[in-house]
Formats: sequence, structure tokens, C-alpha cells
Amino acid sequence: MDSVVESERAGGDQGLAALRKTARHDLARLNYPPANWVPECAGPDGKRVLDVLVVGAGMCGQTVGYGLLREGIGNIRVIERETHGREGPWNTTARMPILRSPKHLTGPDLGVPSLTFRAWYEAQHGAGGWQKLYKIARLDWLLYLLWVREVVGLKVENGVALLKLEPAGDLLRATLSTGETIHTRKVVMANGRDGSGGFRWPSFPSFDPGDPRRKGRVFHTLEDIDFTKLAGKRIGVLGVLATAIDNACTALEAGAAEAICYARRPHLPQVNKSKGVSFPGFQRGQGVLDDDWRWKIYTYMLAAGSPPPHESVLRGQKLKGFSFRFAEPWTDVAVDKDGVTVTTTKSTERFDVVLFGTGFDIDMGRVKELAAFSPNVKLWADVRTPEEAKADAEAARYPYLGPGFELLEKAPGGTPRLGDIHLFNWGSILSQGALAGDIPGLAFGVNRLVPAISNALFRDDIARHVQNMHALEDPELAPTDYFVPRDKRAGTL
Ligand SMILES: Cc1cc2nc3c(=O)[nH]c(=O)nc-3n(C[C@H](O)[C@H](O)[C@H](O)COP(=O)(O)OP(=O)(O)OC[C@H]3O[C@@H](n4cnc5c(N)ncnc54)[C@H](O)[C@@H]3O)c2cc1C
Repeated sequence: MDSVVESERAGGDQGLAALRKTARHDLARLNYPPANWVPECAGPDGKRVLDVLVVGAGMCGQTVGYGLLREGIGNIRVIERETHGREGPWNTTARMPILRSPKHLTGPDLGVPSLTFRAWYEAQHGAGGWQKLYKIARLDWLLYLLWVREVVGLKVENGVALLKLEPAGDLLRATLSTGETIHTRKVVMANGRDGSGGFRWPSFPSFDPGDPRRKGRVFHTLEDIDFTKLAGKRIGVLGVLATAIDNACTALEAGAAEAICYARRPHLPQVNKSKGVSFPGFQRGQGVLDDDWRWKIYTYMLAAGSPPPHESVLRGQKLKGFSFRFAEPWTDVAVDKDGVTVTTTKSTERFDVVLFGTGFDIDMGRVKELAAFSPNVKLWADVRTPEEAKADAEAARYPYLGPGFELLEKAPGGTPRLGDIHLFNWGSILSQGALAGDIPGLAFGVNRLVPAISNALFRDDIARHVQNMHALEDPELAPTDYFVPRDKRAGTL
């Protein structure tokens, strides 16, 4: 993939080079980026305090960074622990040839036509190519994101991770993997689908994900997997949704003998409910509904699940060795040196390798960067009755966020500066709807988050802004006969 990124970087394609010029011109016509308006301030170390630290430069983080620059909030850093081209799942753990989403979606462009995926694609393949395109190729989406980042001039610091965040007086102190300790006023956690709890590992009596014996035998589908090592193997896959199926297919395409996907459900989920609520009213409105409605919507969504894309199922159907087993939950998984024994409610099976296609978890206690705050993060469990929280335990673990995606305190006053941490990842869906994860809601999310940060920075600095307003001197009328020097003016002006 690095070579793919390199070839894009080389800008070999003339159409793309022309589009870059157009897009830069469009941005210039929008006066992008406006001047930074946030007053400078010094931290306890005497250095200039950062206004916003964006953690993660995947699709969400880079769009937040671009949105902040567009708002005139320029004193920011966007850090990304991975190297350039390995941000997000697209070139790492995503194993489907095409995106599920329809090709026409917008988002990373934040409303600038020349920055849309369509513009990027047409620049290379023409209008006819766009008409012929069925869905977006996975790596094209990554190349497109990297292109937008470059065109909008967003500086991303690759290979830099946030390790720890702590309160520091009126500020937040961030410890980075570079050894730096920096002070910042705001933090946006744009750290991905696993950013509010990590991978979901189902619990089985004989299985421990921390057991080193699982190496080479049991994988989570979101881990790095060398599929060439699965040739000839019999594979058990827990899960029947998109990622589970695409991993099974990737294994079979790499020469695996058999891949069986297991489900608790009697059949595949049939309807992608989120598709039906992907319209502006819902996207903008869900986050401003009262708690009862928000809870009702997402407990339903979570229970309904989402079918795998039919393209993934067709991919599997065509492969020898692919099968589903429905209504057969696993009850135990035991690893030994020769393989894995899986006990289900119906049988006991031997596999060479097992893949858990069980997705992501929500558990703020597992977000190590936020360990100093997590015990006091308000959750949905804190605003529902104990019976409701018990009945929908997963939904109850989601953080209960404020209107600008900020974390709120369970016990007010216990964790100063918690509200300066904005959670712009999948953990925000109960509170805001799917605005910080999937493509359709992205622009709605950024257009809610950025004004919230802007308002908060402005409000906190209001005394300085008013002072600056008083001190402002602008000789607008100097070229005329009616200019009056400041010391000769009547009244306050
Ligand atoms: C396999 C797969 C397929 C998907 N397909 C679709 C689709 O077709 N349509 C759709 O709308 N959505 C899809 N999604 C959902 C969503 O669009 C993606 O998950 C997308 O990557 C979300 O963007 P993000 O920026 O939130 O997270 P990511 O793209 O994962 O970016 C988060 C970044 O944060 C970095 N990071 C994490 N922790 C730190 C730290 N401490 N310090 C520094 N950096 C850190 C990570 O390295 C990562 O690059 C898919 C998701 C997956 C997993």
C-alpha cells in the first residue's frame, strides 16, 4: 500500500493535479483558512498553550482538523499513532474490496464540491467513469482522504500517540509517545471505532485473550493477520456480520480449506435500520432529542443489528469451503498447541484457527489514555433506571455526552477539565446519533463539534476579547477630511 500512497503523492495523474488547483482556488475563494482568532496564552511551563489537540487522523480526526482551521482555530495539533497511509482501517484491518456505503456520500469535503469523492474520482476517470463506478474501492477511499488532507493543508503528525491525559489547573496535560508533555485547552478524541473501549472479546470459561498461547491460533478480526499462514487450514469464525464474513472470505481466498461463520441468531439480520435514518432531519435532530427518545432509538438500533452487505455474502457464497451455521452460539473456546476446540450449543468442533468477528466494545474504563478521568465519566446507565440499564447493558455503558460531544462528570467537581475532552468516536452514538464514525453523519458531526469548541474557547476568553475590542484602533477614516485622532474623539470611541 505504501507504493499506492507514493504513486498518489507523486501526483502522476494530471486530472488530479488540475483538481488540486481548482480545490485550492475554491478554498481561497472561501477565504480559507481565516486568521487564527484565539488569543495566545502561556502554560505553566512558559510555552504557548495549544488550543486543541486532535487525537487520531482517520476520517473523523482529519475532518475535525480541517473544520477547526476553517473556523479560524489554527493553534492545533493533529496527532496519529500510525504512519502515513495506515490511518484507520482502510489499509490495515478492513478486508472488503469495496465500501458498504453508496458512492455519492459526502462528508470529508465539508461542503466544498471540488473536495468531494466524486470530484476526486471524476478527475481521474471522467464523468463516464463515475457513472460506471458501482461502489468505492476500499483503498480509493483512503487515497481520497489523504488527498483531501493534503489539499486543505492539514498538518498531521504521524507516528505520535497520546499516551496519557490529566487535568493541569485550567488546562489538560497530554503525555505523548515522543516524550513531550504539552498543555492544551481542548482535546478531541477522534481515535476510532475502538476508541471507547477496544475490541469486543466474548467471555468463555477456557479462553483468555491475554493468554500468549492464542498467538497464531485465535485472532480478533480487527487484528493484523497474516492470511498466507491460513492456507489449508480449517477456520471457525464467530460472527456473521460484515467483518466476520470478509475475514472468512479473505482466508479462503488465501487458500484456507474451510471457514464456517457462526451466529446466535436464527438468520442474518435483514434490514440496515441506519440506512433509513440517514437523512438530515434525523442526523441533525437525534442528538437534541430528550433522553427517552435517544435511549429508545439506539437500544432498538443496537438490538436490530445490521446485515452484512450483500456483496460480502455473495463473495462468501461463491467460495468453496464457506458456510454459515445459524442458531449455534459458542459456549467455550479452548486453545492447545495443535488447534482450537470450540464447543457450541449443538456440537464440539476442532479448528486450526479461530477468528472472533465480534466487533468493538464500549467500556470507558478500558480507554487507557483517559484513565485519570474514566471512573467519573457519566454514562447512560447514570441517567436510566437500574432496570433499564440492566435490560440494555451495552447501551448503558455508552458515555452520556454534552451537546458538543464533551464528556460529562458523574459526580460534579470530581474531575476538573473533563468537559474539555470531546469524544468524537463511536462512543458518541447514544448521545448524538451516528455523527462520529460512519461517513453519512460525518459533516453533521463536525459541524456540531467545531462550533461547540469555538463557542467554548470564545466564552472562556470573553474578558480578553472585550479588552481587545476596547483597545482596537483602526484608522478607517484617515484618508478622508473627517478623521479624528483617538485623543480628540468625543465619547467612548
Ligand atoms: C472494516 C470496516 C469497514 C467500514 N466500512 C464503512 C463504510 O463502508 N461506510 C461507512 O460509512 N463507514 C464504514 N466504516 C465505519 C467508519 O467509517 C470507519 O470506522 C472510519 O474509519 C471511522 O473513522 P474514524 O476517524 O472514527 O476512525 P479511524 O479511521 O479508525 O481513525 C482513528 C485513528 O486514531 C488513531 N489513534 C487511536 N488512538 C490514538 C492515540 N492514542 N494517539 C494517536 N492516534 C491514535 C488510530 O491509529 C486511527 O488511525 C467501516 C469500518 C470498518 C472497521
